[in-house]
Amino acid sequence: MRTSWPPITPSPTPPPDRSAGAPGPRADLVDLLRGALPAEALRPGVDVRQVRPDGTVVHGGGTSTADLVVGADGVHSVTRRSVWPRLPGPRYVGYTTWRLLAPPRPVEGSVETWGRGERFGHVPMPDGRVYCHLMANAPAGTRVGLAELRERFARWHDPIPALLRSARPEEVLQHDTYELPELDTYVCGRVAILGDAAHAMTPNLGQGACQALEDAVTLAAAVDSHGVPAGLAAYDRARRPRTQLVVRLSRQVGAPAHWRSAPLTVLRDAALPLLPAALLGRSLTATYTWAP
Ligand SMILES: Cc1cc2nc3c(=O)[nH]c(=O)nc-3n(C[C@H](O)[C@H](O)[C@H](O)COP(=O)(O)OP(=O)(O)OC[C@H]3O[C@@H](n4cnc5c(N)ncnc54)[C@H](O)[C@@H]3O)c2cc1C
Repeated sequence: MRTSWPPITPSPTPPPDRSAGAPGPRADLVDLLRGALPAEALRPGVDVRQVRPDGTVVHGGGTSTADLVVGADGVHSVTRRSVWPRLPGPRYVGYTTWRLLAPPRPVEGSVETWGRGERFGHVPMPDGRVYCHLMANAPAGTRVGLAELRERFARWHDPIPALLRSARPEEVLQHDTYELPELDTYVCGRVAILGDAAHAMTPNLGQGACQALEDAVTLAAAVDSHGVPAGLAAYDRARRPRTQLVVRLSRQVGAPAHWRSAPLTVLRDAALPLLPAALLGRSLTATYTWAP
């Protein structure tokens, strides 16, 4: 338990299980995926405007048809909105998030610290840099820069103030946090959606992109084995229960970090250290371990 003000507590995040993977910069992953594709497969700068269940895609370069259309177009997916126009849109969960990579410095493992309606986490990267995430309750659209973040977290424990002092303003990303209501299906006709388009979630378990990758591997294998209609049905059956469970778990794990009530946060801070780490680890094992 930390003793500085505001009352703060290490989160119940279990020690990282390296068998479940190691953290790495998103840009490296994007480079890896891009490098695996033939150059002609990518058409940058073409915006998709409408997708129809029969495989028709209307885009900035004209109209195309395909046996299979995969909508991996993020939380505000045009694919989802075209194919399922009546579905409710993403819901703002009440907190905004900043991310940054601080210059290399030794830090004590992966730690997340909770305050009242705000939190700070840091994760050492393999190259020595330190990935930091900050979250705070705020109305959607609130914009706060690095100078204000330094001020806001100035009295938190080490190395938080130093990490923020070493960061560069142009490297700070801020995103409001959205979650998608549970969908009844991820497929329709010749169209499948995956990743945030299908199940945008809070970042509390660091699982959004991981689940998108699992979706992609499962979808490719299912279509390869069974063809389009049966493969899409198999993909939907396999992925919806798991991804929707992760969305719920992620929401629940993060909720106490955003409590603002003093009595509740005092209780939380007293109770959390009493929970056995093994119990916390076990409850998340199924999320962090997956085999195709
Ligand atoms: C603060 C924060 C921290 C996170 N931390 C983690 C983490 O630690 N680990 C993790 O696994 N996940 C994390 N996530 C979640 C992760 O970022 C997302 O789940 C992941 O990026 C989803 O991938 P995606 O491909 O489905 O969507 P996106 O990454 O949103 O990609 C969608 C792509 O589609 C393109 N696109 C959109 N609309 C169109 C259109 N009309 N025409 C053409 N192209 C279009 C976009 O330009 C974009 O390239 C975090 C998210 C946030 C907000």
